[in-house]
Amino acid sequence: MLPPCLPEPGKSEYDLLVIGGGSGGLACAKEASQFGKKVAVLDYVDPTPKGTKWGLGGTCVNVGCIPKKLMHQAALLGSALRDARHYGWHMPYPAKHDWSTLAKAVQNHVKSLNWGHRVQLQDKKVKYFNLKGSFLDERTIRGSAKGGKEVFLTAENIVLATGGRPKYPENVAGSREHGITSDDIFWLKKSPGKTLVVGASYVSLECAGFLTGLGLDATVMMRSIPLRGFDQQMATLVTDYMESYGTRFLKKCSPMKVKKAENDRLRVTWKYLDSGKEKTDEFDTVLWAVGRAPDTKALNLESVGVKINSATGKIIVDEGEATSVPHIYAIGDITEGRPELTPTAIAAGKLLARRMFGQSEELMDYDNVPTTVFTPLEYGCIGLSEEEAVRRFGVDNLEVYHAFYKPLEFTVAERNAPQCYIKMVCLREREQRILGLHFIGPNAGEVIQGFALGIKCGATYSQMMATVGIHPTCAEEVTKLHITKRSGADPTVTGC
Ligand SMILES: Cc1cc2nc3c(=O)[nH]c(=O)nc-3n(C[C@H](O)[C@H](O)[C@H](O)COP(=O)(O)OP(=O)(O)OC[C@H]3O[C@@H](n4cnc5c(N)ncnc54)[C@H](O)[C@@H]3O)c2cc1C
Repeated sequence: MLPPCLPEPGKSEYDLLVIGGGSGGLACAKEASQFGKKVAVLDYVDPTPKGTKWGLGGTCVNVGCIPKKLMHQAALLGSALRDARHYGWHMPYPAKHDWSTLAKAVQNHVKSLNWGHRVQLQDKKVKYFNLKGSFLDERTIRGSAKGGKEVFLTAENIVLATGGRPKYPENVAGSREHGITSDDIFWLKKSPGKTLVVGASYVSLECAGFLTGLGLDATVMMRSIPLRGFDQQMATLVTDYMESYGTRFLKKCSPMKVKKAENDRLRVTWKYLDSGKEKTDEFDTVLWAVGRAPDTKALNLESVGVKINSATGKIIVDEGEATSVPHIYAIGDITEGRPELTPTAIAAGKLLARRMFGQSEELMDYDNVPTTVFTPLEYGCIGLSEEEAVRRFGVDNLEVYHAFYKPLEFTVAERNAPQCYIKMVCLREREQRILGLHFIGPNAGEVIQGFALGIKCGATYSQMMATVGIHPTCAEEVTKLHITKRSGADPTVTGC
């Protein structure tokens, strides 16, 4: 029997219904509305086990890129204050940081973005429902409100963009009860204090990095390699710098249990994987950064036959973001094999809307997507890691140019950062097409964004060498790379 408030059978209220109002979903909905289509977005946030919840905009705005970058900036300012004394500024040292001021400012900014998204949807005549969506049938979505009220919506096309949520380790007693994740850290009103960050993902290193930079005692616990999937030489330089910057690392360790001690602190017991020895220490906060899981459970995908990869839980899509069911599409972090990044989710959403309603045939190109890890010393990259280039082309067919350099601004400040490094992986042929560019240093995101256009257009080593640098910058070092790894020559840049 049909539920009472179902629309007439066969009649679709909307041309497009988007489930998930994050980076991808909002972009897709807004673009579709430009074609005069009737569009609605459902967005709903399940609170974390600690009760943290937030508004419209998804992960990036509320618990991802935006608050993360602002907290990273707060940490960088701390380093700038240290440098400033060398440049003649007189101020009390060490400067004190107040977490609650930072958190309030960040949270206020995020709330203004939530509001901005609502206004944009209204302006573009996209209907917004604060409802949790799940399939009733192929064209009908059940929207559940907080108090249990249900609404049924029908649509010709449905786009799934429900993103992901952080995982908790299953086999660590007390992990959910006592730990937090990146879904909580940016919304803490009080300083997290001495923090154990578990995991070796970019989220883990970025969080530990800004906590260290804010003057907190931060430890990263990792089982194996840092920044899996990234170039491992670069990943090691990133963590080496973090160690010298004050972040503690517990390598080849695995957490076993977390308990609340009498003094209200958290007693964490872990094991050293090599020796099997156990150790316990107290922390104020334990932050799990052990990966993310696609948020698909509530969608009732089985009922309509949308196929997922059973190992990853992600939705399988074709090159046009179509799922196994016609008229149901998926974009962003819930899709199999796609980068988990805001700009790719946004671009995929926009292009999908144009293909659905605008007679466009343009597909999203997921190759050569630039990205940056916002650790204390930033790491930006585009294209292939050296390992991946070797795997695809063979070591003999590659030329790797590299340089260790010293940012000019670090000299007067007497900052020791021998990990500032650039690597360009090229094909070993006449023009030497650039396969990957890796940069560690200040403003890595800005640097790599600039070169990304060239690399997307198929830039070669010769063209890079014909590019005139801007002096004195860190980015100009890319245009001066001339030492190959093969030569074995010292890649340290000297002089101006
Ligand atoms: C700490 C952190 C830092 C990051 N930093 C960066 C960065 O610097 N740069 C970058 O490019 N990317 C970064 N990312 C990744 C980026 O945030 C994601 O790739 C991006 O937000 C994915 O967008 P999306 O549209 O797939 O999903 P999301 O933005 O996650 O949006 C999904 C939305 O759907 C909602 N939802 C889920 N299920 C339902 C349902 N059944 N019904 C209704 N609504 C539902 C969710 O609550 C959420 O609001 C970061 C992520 C994290 C966690």
